[in-house]
Amino acid sequence: MIVLKFGGTSVGTLEKVRDAATIITQQPFPRAAVVSAASGVTNLLLEAASHAAAGDIEARGKVVDLIDGKHRAIAAGITNESERSGADAVLDQLHAGLRDALETVGDQGSVTNESSDRIVATGEKCMSVLMAALLRSRGVSAAHVFADTVIGTDDRFGSARPDRERTRTQAESVVLPLLAEGKTVIMTGFIGGAPDGRTTTLGRGGSDYSATLLGAAIDATEVQIWTDVPGVLSADPRQVPEARVVPVISYEEAQELAHFGAKVLHPRTIRPAVARNIPVRILSTFAPFEPGTVVQRRASDQRIKAVTTMKGLMMLSVDVPELEDLSGAAATVFQQLHVGRVEVVHAAQASSRRRMTYLVDGASAGGCAATTANLDIALVDFEAEVSCNDDVALVAAVGQGSADQPETLGKMMDVLRRASIPVLGSSQQTSNVALVVVVPASRAQQAVEVVHEAFIGSQAASARGRRSRRTRMIAESVQVG
Ligand code: ADP
Ligand code: ASP
Ligand code: MG
Repeated sequence: MIVLKFGGTSVGTLEKVRDAATIITQQPFPRAAVVSAASGVTNLLLEAASHAAAGDIEARGKVVDLIDGKHRAIAAGITNESERSGADAVLDQLHAGLRDALETVGDQGSVTNESSDRIVATGEKCMSVLMAALLRSRGVSAAHVFADTVIGTDDRFGSARPDRERTRTQAESVVLPLLAEGKTVIMTGFIGGAPDGRTTTLGRGGSDYSATLLGAAIDATEVQIWTDVPGVLSADPRQVPEARVVPVISYEEAQELAHFGAKVLHPRTIRPAVARNIPVRILSTFAPFEPGTVVQRRASDQRIKAVTTMKGLMMLSVDVPELEDLSGAAATVFQQLHVGRVEVVHAAQASSRRRMTYLVDGASAGGCAATTANLDIALVDFEAEVSCNDDVALVAAVGQGSADQPETLGKMMDVLRRASIPVLGSSQQTSNVALVVVVPASRAQQAVEVVHEAFIGSQAASARGRRSRRTRMIAESVQVG
């Protein structure tokens, strides 16, 4: 049983939807595919929602027309007439639902996380309808499924947490019977259903997570993430053009990479796969003949595999001179961050000056001034001093064993020193697979370049020569059309 997932750029145009459909039809049965919204549509839907909240009916209408146009252009390429008109009729309903939801936002004058989730879900829903209709018009028995009836979540709209047991039960009753009938299931990514059935989302980029959640729920043998890069690369190719494919990466390595900012995988994607030991492959719809990356339990070797960076962070430093205050102050800080739902990317504690540092997501924390003021109040019982710096970025070098080798951290520091990049903090822990440094945000790009050059640039092996029979077959079929 295989679950495939297609990201926005991989279903961004009629041509890409056709290519994705060909890739799906190359897979053995039983098979299910998870689709994102066409590229740009989620952002347009959010834009429409904010125009609606601001009462700008004209701007809202223009954006909705753009979305409608994108979907209709794909529908127009469905060759079978009855499938085409069937898809158009469902699009009519979904777009009408969207207009109603925007109308309600306009009446209320604001967008809540709940209404936002209902609105953005339209993009994925439309794509699942289009893909299933396009497959049927090619003679493939296919059915679309809206994931708010499959992926069970809590009601944290905007970033809902899945309920794995409910998801399994729902997948058994909604997805498995369709697969048993020999149908190709096309499920929406990104969205889920709260216990009372209201539509939630898993957070931006969450369709990767939907794919592994579905994979785990139906005991898939493999999850394939089809995207616009030929695998997990040694760095974001937009930052390091010479980045290369990492052929094999462990769950732990992939998890660290995603956690520390590599957009190729949503940070929560790997966990459901780990639980059931499902290999996750990252493949490109633009180069389907490339072998891609396989994410699996074991690491291939000890080397640094990739370098990543994360911006939009704040570094909170809490100085606690009295040793006996240390654990109480730490507990208070974490409690404050937890209550404020602030995402902690990294935390460290040094013994000198009893300094604790927390790297947190700047957006969820609400900025340095507010966070410092809140912590000052919360820490009133301790002799603690809080400072905050929001001009920081994290750079992580990820590779199994990196933390066991002191020379790796030494080399990283040396490389940064030679480039005159100040290091504001660093961490190497024996239990993890990443070396993390904090640098000024303005130096992050250069830091990634020099660290990549030092650790990856010198590695001779490249995966490009390795082509499996399976990917060759897909390549040939995509070229044939
Ligand atoms: P999709 O729409 O298919 O989900 P995304 O845009 O979410 O695709 O993720 C793919 C993008 O992730 C790539 O285009 C690339 O710019 C970015 N990226 C960041 N870091 C990496 C990395 N280490 N390897 C591959 N891609 C990366
Ligand atoms: N369409 C959603 C987004 O843009 C989900 C995804 O792409 O994974 O965030
Ligand atoms: Mg993505």
